[in-house]
Order: sequence, then C-alpha cells, then structure tokens
Amino acid sequence: MRSYSLIAPAKINLYLEILGDRPDGYHELAMILQSIELADHINLRSISTDTIRIQCDHPQVPNDESNLAYKAVKLMAEEFPDVFARLGGVEIAIKKQIPVAAGLAGGSTDAAAVLMGMDLMWQLGLTQPELQELAAKLGSDIPFCLAGGTALATGRGEALSPLPDLENLYVVLAKHRNLMVSTVWAYQTYRSEFGHTYIRDRVSIVTPEQLGLPTLGSSAESLESRAARVHSGPMVNAIFNKNVSQIGQLLHNDLEKVVLPANPQVMQLREAFESSGALGTMMSGSGPTVFALCESEAHAQEIQQNVRARIADPDLDFWVTKFSNHGVQVVSTVN
Ligand code: ATP
Repeated sequence: MRSYSLIAPAKINLYLEILGDRPDGYHELAMILQSIELADHINLRSISTDTIRIQCDHPQVPNDESNLAYKAVKLMAEEFPDVFARLGGVEIAIKKQIPVAAGLAGGSTDAAAVLMGMDLMWQLGLTQPELQELAAKLGSDIPFCLAGGTALATGRGEALSPLPDLENLYVVLAKHRNLMVSTVWAYQTYRSEFGHTYIRDRVSIVTPEQLGLPTLGSSAESLESRAARVHSGPMVNAIFNKNVSQIGQLLHNDLEKVVLPANPQVMQLREAFESSGALGTMMSGSGPTVFALCESEAHAQEIQQNVRARIADPDLDFWVTKFSNHGVQVVSTVN
C-alpha cells in the first residue's frame, strides 16, 4: 500500500484589498499572501476499494464529503476516472494544527496537500501549472497554498505573481478558541456596506479601449489598473527592499472594517497588539485571527507576553511561528 505524508502550511494576509464584484459572483481581490510554518499534517494511504475515507482529529472539522480534502480527491477521481477505477480509493488522515475558520486557509491548504499527494500516488506526473489549474477549480486560496512563499494574488485570489522570499520574520498569532468567522459572511457584509465603492468595469462586455473610444477619468479606474497599482505599490516595494518596518506599517485588510465592529473581542485583541511593540499587526483574511510581525523569536515571545498580560482571557490561544518560503511539501513516502 502506497502512503504519503505531507505538510500543509497556513497563510496570513499581509495585504487584502477588495476591488469589486466579478460576473461569477466572487470578489475581485488584490492580496499579498505569506506562508507560515504553522502547518497541518496530512497522510494519504491507497486502499483497494473505490471509497474515499477522511479522518480528522479536530471536532469542528467534518469527516464527510463536505471536507475540502474529500472534495480534492473527488475532483481527481472525476478528472482521472480510469486511474481511479484501476487504483481505487484513498484514506486520508488530517492532523490539525491550524485553527479552524480562522482566516488562515486551513481547509484550503489541506486540499492543496491532497491534490499533490494524489498526483504522486496515482503517478500522474502533473506539471505545476496543471496542478495549479486543478487547485483553482476547488477554491480561490488553494493555488497559493500549493505554491507557498510570498505572492501577490489577484482575480479571485488564484492568479499568482511570486514575490521575493522574506526570511527570518516571526509572527505571533492569537485567536479566541470558540470564536469563528464565516468567510462568506465577511465578504457578503462587506459587499452590503461598501459595495458602492466597487469598481464595476467588468459589467460592460466591450471596453471603451476596444472600441477605440477615450476612457473616462479617475472614477472609471479599471480593476486591472487598480490591481496594477497594488503590484507597483508601497507594500510590494517594501517586500522587494526587505524593509521589515515598512512592511509592518503597510499591513492592510479591508475585511477588518466589517469583522472588527461585529466582534468586540477581536477589536480588543487588535488594539492590544497595536500597542505591544510589534513591527505591525493585522487581522488575517476574514479573521478572527490577529497576527503581529516581529523581528526575532525573542521579540515574538515578548509581544505574546505583552498581549497576554493585557487580556486575561483563558480562551485566547497564541502561536509563535515564522514566515515560510514554501507551500505544501512531501515529507515521507512509503511504497
Ligand atoms: P480561508 O482563510 O480560506 O477563508 P479559514 O481558515 O477561515 O479559510 P477553514 O479553517 O478552512 O477556514 O474552515 C472553514 C470551514 O470549512 C469550517 O467551518 C470547517 O468546518 C470547514 N472545513 C472543511 N474541510 C476542512 C478542513 N480540511 N480543514 C478545516 N476546515 C474544513
């Protein structure tokens, strides 16, 4: 029986800007994503029946077809039906280290690991772009989780431009144990409160440029030019220059505008980090995890102690971890 063990790192958002709506119902985003060393451990084992079995050690993660890891196997079985018929199903064990519904892409990274593991188990020899295409079919964050490192993500989050690796930056993460934020709720609430600020150029099928007409003024800034502005903007420059204090100051997340007011505990946590002496602090993704950037492990431990001293809540969990320059990795194979 073949088996594979993989590690599936979490991500944080150094930058998240919501640009507008897309015709497919998703949001058009400009994000800067960063892998961290906090990771789930995934084991895949081939089984001779045609079943897909999922087992996760976290009580809030489903063991059925709604698990993103299950959906990843199902996609592979649909894409490669002959191989599935010949080689049979798979048993997947997920050892959860990444907090659930926390804005850290825990489910997405598990799915990315399963895609990579199935490619190896079925000896498909898929190229990186082929795996990325399958990943994008499953979810917006999954292509980044496969590739990892530091990247600018546009479109739904699936169009990636790699950025230089940022080594030796440490992160303190904090999350209230029983608090979860639905990603769908966060984006829907943002749309209802801030939809009037969206750029709407994708609604027109033919652009003025295509018709040889002059474009309008600044109010007609296109999604592409707004995304390009992020690409050549201060945060990307700070990353190229490895200017960590600027990176800390330029952290940004539009979703804080809806998640913080609705969750006073997260607001309080964010404020405690703000005055803790970190390089910078921000909520990751749709939250409720708040992170702080630190220059060293000792600095990260100190920030953690500062925030613990300010918020005496036994339900507040902390993690100290580090930036990582890789995505999903295979750690062992048994043939
Ligand atoms: P993102 O940052 O991509 O929005 P998240 O980190 O906020 O994701 P997840 O941890 O992926 O959120 O969990 C979101 C929901 O997905 C949870 O309600 C959980 O029950 C469900 N889920 C399905 N499969 C998984 C999985 N493998 N790991 C974690 N959650 C999963």
